[in-house]
Amino acid sequence: VNNEVFSLSEMLQSLTALYMSSPECHIYFGRQDKPYLIDADKTQINRVFTNLLQNAIQAIPEGQEGHVAISMKEEGPHWVVVEVIDNGTGIPPEAQEKIFVPNFTTKSSGTGLGLAMSRNIVEQAGGEIWFRTSPGMGTTFFVRLPLVADQQ
Ligand code: ADP
Ligand code: MG
Repeated sequence: VNNEVFSLSEMLQSLTALYMSSPECHIYFGRQDKPYLIDADKTQINRVFTNLLQNAIQAIPEGQEGHVAISMKEEGPHWVVVEVIDNGTGIPPEAQEKIFVPNFTTKSSGTGLGLAMSRNIVEQAGGEIWFRTSPGMGTTFFVRLPLVADQQ
């Protein structure tokens, strides 16, 4: 493993800046008051949030105004929870149990590897990933990661 201590706030700030908001899809990331330092493989964690952001954008149906927001919250002194929220198609009940299975995709050019890989990476980092979805309304993915101790 290639762990290093880095700021999750900074990573998400730069990542969302890569995906320019457009009239079709607005991307929101509130400025963070804290760095949220974590000790993990930076390249791998970056892959997780890149995939979640791409999935969120791709879930917006053609012709609908998309809103994708990333929020970060502290959960007690030891954890940070990132939410990636979209107002896309949602995930139909029959797909919900399969989305983390390798090669499961509903996209014509998808690999179906993003979420399977993401779950491995997040669990490797001592965290968890889960989602809440409402078909027709949208989906929120949650990623909980352990914070580096003593970052006050
Ligand atoms: P891929 O993006 O290559 O299809 P992923 O593992 O990233 O592979 O996602 C698997 C499947 O989960 C997607 O094909 C899609 O059906 C579903 N999915 C993932 N994220 C979302 C989302 N935000 N909204 C709706 N469906 C989603
Ligand atoms: Mg994907």
